[in-house]
Amino acid sequence: MKSFTARLSAVVVFPPILLTIVFLAMSLSLSFIKAESKQGIQKSLNTVLNTTQETLQLWLSSRLGDLKELARDKEMIALAKVLISSHHNKPNDQKNSPALEKMRTLMAAKMQRYNDKGFFIINPDRVSIASMRDANISSENLINQQRKLYLDRAFMGDTLFIPSINSDVPLITQSGALRDKQPTIFIASPIIDHNAKVIAVLTLRLDPMTNFSRITQLGRIGNTGETYAFDESGQLLTKSRFTEDLRAIGVIRNDEIDMLSIRVIDPGGNLLEGYKPETQKKDWPLTLMAHRAIEGNTSSFIDSYRDYRGVEVFGAWLWSKKLGIGLTTEIDVKEALQPYELTRMVIIIVLAILIVLTIGLVFFLLWLQEREKKVLKQHSKLLKETVFKRTAELEDANKNLKILSEIDPLTQIGNRRLYEQTLPRAIATSKRASQAMSLMIIDIDFFKPFNDNYGHHQGDVTLYHVAEVIANSLTRTTDLAARYGGEEFVVLMPSTDAEGALYFANQIKTNIESRGIKHKFSSVADIVTVSIGVASLVGDALNGTDLFRDADNALYQAKENGRKQIVLYQSLRNSRQ
Ligand code: GH3
Ligand code: MG
Ligand code: MG
Repeated sequence: MKSFTARLSAVVVFPPILLTIVFLAMSLSLSFIKAESKQGIQKSLNTVLNTTQETLQLWLSSRLGDLKELARDKEMIALAKVLISSHHNKPNDQKNSPALEKMRTLMAAKMQRYNDKGFFIINPDRVSIASMRDANISSENLINQQRKLYLDRAFMGDTLFIPSINSDVPLITQSGALRDKQPTIFIASPIIDHNAKVIAVLTLRLDPMTNFSRITQLGRIGNTGETYAFDESGQLLTKSRFTEDLRAIGVIRNDEIDMLSIRVIDPGGNLLEGYKPETQKKDWPLTLMAHRAIEGNTSSFIDSYRDYRGVEVFGAWLWSKKLGIGLTTEIDVKEALQPYELTRMVIIIVLAILIVLTIGLVFFLLWLQEREKKVLKQHSKLLKETVFKRTAELEDANKNLKILSEIDPLTQIGNRRLYEQTLPRAIATSKRASQAMSLMIIDIDFFKPFNDNYGHHQGDVTLYHVAEVIANSLTRTTDLAARYGGEEFVVLMPSTDAEGALYFANQIKTNIESRGIKHKFSSVADIVTVSIGVASLVGDALNGTDLFRDADNALYQAKENGRKQIVLYQSLRNSRQ
């Protein structure tokens, strides 16, 4: 039983422990894999970001170098001087100035090389004194309106990049349509005279859709990775990868260009999944990335945050002082963690299978034990029944043996042992009832000659018949007939006086004679006869020894008197023949 309980507890307790260990190990490895994945993503993002920045700077320094060279060109300086003075003298006539024509010719040749969109010569009053289009001439330059600080730096001697601004004139888009308020970027370089004085600033209008956006577009990882630039107000400066998505959900209107229509601000939830912001667009804060980048905090951030679509992304960012712009590379968490999610799913499936198998095994083992218990129970029940049956059989056998040991095998009536066992009980019963008790001894007459002449077998048969007649002559169940030995029988009659005993002695004697068993060799008859000695005692005188001795004496007397008769000991008188 102890081992069964131990086995049962092993079956029930060990699997959960094992599963817990497996679960913990898997959770640990998963969190390790997740951390590793995040670090890997961070590394990749940083690599892409740095590469993009370097490419941008390379591209820009080559363009700035060219521009600087152009601004230092003698013809350029000379033409600028003429334009400055002509503007100063006849500002309204500037459009017709021959110098302007020359300048346009000079610039057209230079601009052709990179497919630049236009140029400005800006005087210290920040007025455009030369441009490809007449519309701009003699009016405040749009860079001064939109990015004054950058222009200030150019007048202080810097050759620099000026991030995207809205164009003042309609420009031809990539698709060929003429559109208003197109985003545009500039590079600017001062025109310095021989006195090292900045007399004007030369700017080139570049197409942000070409090189600038293209370089950032190179830094795209996977399907959702995006590298983009933004200014200090969080304004997007390059083409968004998700323009169509944003149009579809109405974040930007159809007539709006993504650049300059999109700010890198956090809507508070995933717009692509139908999130409806509670606050107005103007109140949305910068995304975590933009906020940190603009602050100059470029320490690596391993966790995810929401981008300008509200989608959870991982990102790396920097603020380029040289370009005056922020640059970031981001990728959707969903895509970045796909390998991890896949591993996690596999692990979960394996764990689920393991749990199901373990539970199945536990139930199977419990079922087996239950079955074993049932079989054991059935066995023990069967064993009990068999033991019970065998005991009963044994008791029966014992009983039979006892009966057999008290029955005379030849005559099938009680034997001398039964007689001797019954005698004391019969005496006690009679004494308790203060009644007399009688005993008779019956002996077949001339039985030796019977045997000698008819054979021993016939003798046995006769003994059987005589016993049968004696037993059948008795009516009380308390009377006992037994074969005392040889051809002698006794009849024990408790609570029976001499008179009663004599009555039954007569019955027996008569019945035996009536049976008429032939006995030609008897001297008293030609049939088998018996002699009976009867004794009867009562009260204190009643005891087994005396009773038998008296009956034996009476029998002796009967034989002496001629056989075939009954003698009662007390009177020693003959009974009826
Ligand atoms: P009586 O009693 O009339 O004086 O003469 P009896 O011939 O009967 O004399 P006794 O009692 O001495 O003989 C007993 C005989 O009974 C001896 C034996 O041949 C016979 N006898 C005793 N026991 C058995 C027995 O079991 N089977 C058979 N067939 N005969 C037995
Ligand atoms: Mg005899
Ligand atoms: Mg005899």
